[in-house]
Amino acid sequence: MIEQTLVLIKPDGVKRGLIGELISRFERRGLKIVGLKMVQVDPDFSKKHYSNHIKKDFYKGLEKFITSGPVVAVVIEGIDAVEVVRKIVGDTSPKFAPVGTIRGDFAHISLEYSDKKKKAAENLIHASGNKKEAKQEVSLWFSLDELHSYKISYEEHVM
Ligand code: GDP
Ligand code: MG
Repeated sequence: MIEQTLVLIKPDGVKRGLIGELISRFERRGLKIVGLKMVQVDPDFSKKHYSNHIKKDFYKGLEKFITSGPVVAVVIEGIDAVEVVRKIVGDTSPKFAPVGTIRGDFAHISLEYSDKKKKAAENLIHASGNKKEAKQEVSLWFSLDELHSYKISYEEHVM
């Protein structure tokens, strides 16, 4: 039930000065930050992280985007964290992401528009898509000694 999941603040989120704003959305929900670092992704690592997208038309633009500046990598822990974090993040296409979600509050582009521009959809944030992906991504991005165990005050009230 207690799960860990990977979140990335993508280069557009970092360059727009939204690191604190976006991370606080997880904290205020009572989720726990157990790993945190800033990373410059290179093309090899992009291919590992996005291994199931390599053959897709948008991959070239996606690699260009994710390597275009540093990302902030975060491991988030909580009850059913994979699903809860995806809900906070919203749909892949910001156009369809509900208001109140990160992608719905800070972006509005459509996938069609990004395709036309031959760019990846700049949607601020990545979150693991399912439990299996979360396990793979947390271990790809973080070593065990970079993951921390501690109690947050929320645990007394919400867990
Ligand atoms: P996510 O799990 O919601 O991030 O979406 P995916 O795993 O399907 O795709 C990874 C990332 O590739 C997305 O967050 C977008 O930045 C980009 N992307 C996905 N689908 C498309 C698409 O159809 N067109 C374009 N241009 N970019 C896309
Ligand atoms: Mg995905």
